Amino acid sequence: MFLRVDKLQIELPAPLKADPNAGAALQELLGGKYGEMSTLGNYMFQSFNFRSKHKLRPFYSLVAAITAEELGHVELVSNGVAMLNNGPDNDDDEVNGGDISDAPFADMADIRLAASFYSNGGGATPVNSNGASWNNDFITTTGNVVFDLLHNFHLECGARLHKLRVYESLTDPMGREVCGYLLVRGSVHAHAYALALKKITGVDIDKMLPTPNINLDKIPECQKYLGEGSHRKLYTFSENDYKETSSIWGNGEVALPGDPPGELHVVEGMPDGGKIHMLSGIPSAFSPDYAPEEMMEIAQKLYKASR
Ligand code: MN
Ligand code: MN
Repeated sequence: MFLRVDKLQIELPAPLKADPNAGAALQELLGGKYGEMSTLGNYMFQSFNFRSKHKLRPFYSLVAAITAEELGHVELVSNGVAMLNNGPDNDDDEVNGGDISDAPFADMADIRLAASFYSNGGGATPVNSNGASWNNDFITTTGNVVFDLLHNFHLECGARLHKLRVYESLTDPMGREVCGYLLVRGSVHAHAYALALKKITGVDIDKMLPTPNINLDKIPECQKYLGEGSHRKLYTFSENDYKETSSIWGNGEVALPGDPPGELHVVEGMPDGGKIHMLSGIPSAFSPDYAPEEMMEIAQKLYKASR
């Protein structure tokens, strides 16, 4: 089962301006072929379906622990999309519905993912940058451990391709921060699956990394995370379970040649994380509703009653 923590995996800067087309670009990292929904879906169902879990414990634990991290990546990218659609942090909710007869959202007719406004009020959904739905066809769970791990390795290289290209298409510091962090974490996952395959088959598949062949030191937004040694950490996302991953991610194994050197190690638990940014209320878009004062009053009363 899962435990939920009301934080993002990292502290994000606020976006500089509302930029729904940048939000659409970031959607590729959520619902694209190699997006976070795909990594989550693959590892989650592989971990549920895993045969001989007890006998193959380190491999099962690896897939299970990374599943939890991917769920947090889905959350991180979704927040990033909504933040780019929302614009800079603003504690002041719009106070009234304004004049809706004056076409206050005329600009929304021309954004690339118009449905992200019309249906989703500026929120994220599991679609790619063109609005095509993410779906089950992106999931591979064969029951063959080598095949599944190989698929996961391919998936993480694909995710790296996505993140690099999306990064190259964005200028907003928040969008770039999401890409930079996920590039570091995706590199960990590709490396981890390569090491797992090496343990089973003896093939040095880790020598193919990084694919695409762009080192993380070329990306300014990755530097902080490399400095913290994030590229050498694998989190269990659990208080007591999945520690067996250290027999794959550890055991004298070291960072990839292009990254800051050092031994790989498993961290029991999760990263410290960062705050979830507030999204402004926009009564003219009926979010949360046309007249939010009553809802806020009810919420206040409920909150007081709970203390
Ligand atoms: Mn991910
Ligand atoms: Mn990953």
